[in-house]
Amino acid sequence: KAAGGVTGGYRFFEPAAHELAVARIDLEHDLRLAVERGEFELVYQPVLSLSGGRIVGAEALIRWHHPVRGLLAPSEFIGVAEETHLIIPIGRWVIEEACRQLAEWNAQPGLDGGRPLMLSVNVSNRQLAHDPALVAEVTGAIAKHGVAAEQICLEVTETAVHEASGEVRWALAELSRIGVQIALDDYGTGYSSLGHLREIPVNALKIDRVFIEGLTRHRGDDAIVVAVITLAHALGMHVVAEGVESWQQRDRLRELGCDYVQGHLFARPLRVAQFEDLVRGRIELPAEPSVR
Ligand code: C2E
Ligand code: MG
Ligand code: MG
Ligand code: MG
Repeated sequence: KAAGGVTGGYRFFEPAAHELAVARIDLEHDLRLAVERGEFELVYQPVLSLSGGRIVGAEALIRWHHPVRGLLAPSEFIGVAEETHLIIPIGRWVIEEACRQLAEWNAQPGLDGGRPLMLSVNVSNRQLAHDPALVAEVTGAIAKHGVAAEQICLEVTETAVHEASGEVRWALAELSRIGVQIALDDYGTGYSSLGHLREIPVNALKIDRVFIEGLTRHRGDDAIVVAVITLAHALGMHVVAEGVESWQQRDRLRELGCDYVQGHLFARPLRVAQFEDLVRGRIELPAEPSVR
């Protein structure tokens, strides 16, 4: 069937497009209820210090337990959440839940190897640009749960910073002033304007995994990683490498003086109990093979 084409003089409605539109409306409807129904969960991907190999914290990543479709990854709903601005209540929940979880960890002996855990939270461009209460929400959640502002890192994208209005700049400056850490996520894939690093208080750059993927295979990717690490350190920022999947990548990042790593080589995003077991040493991080 020629979908949407002309058959025997009649124009048929394209079924695929129709189904897509219905699916999108269903998704929006379900998303609207998901916060109230408590269908979201945060999973935690460990962040390790490259020098010591210790878990210093985690990145909180959202998952949706859809009543019919099962477990959904952010790629399946964050786009629609942003378009419909539902990302604002969802983002609010993420901040609240992250602070609640962090307070629980702070209260558990053995969950910090002497130093409190850091928890990174992703903030979407829409949320940053359209939630005028963001600063109040973050400061409120920090106060309510009694966590240190320095334990929270907000991951924002370069695009959000590039498009930042006066209000957004004020919000980031204010959050930074109270001690909240700011990281630029997926660094290198957006505008990578050096001017932003001067205008916006940035504590860390997260090198996107596309560059880590090519690190030991393409000279260009290696050069980019070298440049980002050099730049970050010159400006007094930390560097986190995302998507580390091999020991070769880990070795090269160590040579280059990268500070922190995150990736499937060490751990996937984990449910709370598993993350806690890992921090406590009840389960072990993958050991480096002696021959490889
Ligand atoms: P991101 O912030 O860049 O997060 C890193 C993504 O890379 C995560 O995907 C993580 O599971 C994945 N990853 C980590 N290590 C590896 C690896 O070694 N190899 C590969 N191939 N992938 C790895 P995830 O959880 O599906 O999240 C995708 C994106 O969705 C995130 O990218 C972030 O932009 C967004 N996101 C996740 N949680 C939230 C949230 O709570 N709020 C908002 N606004 N966005 C979120
Ligand atoms: Mg992130
Ligand atoms: Mg991202
Ligand atoms: Mg990223």
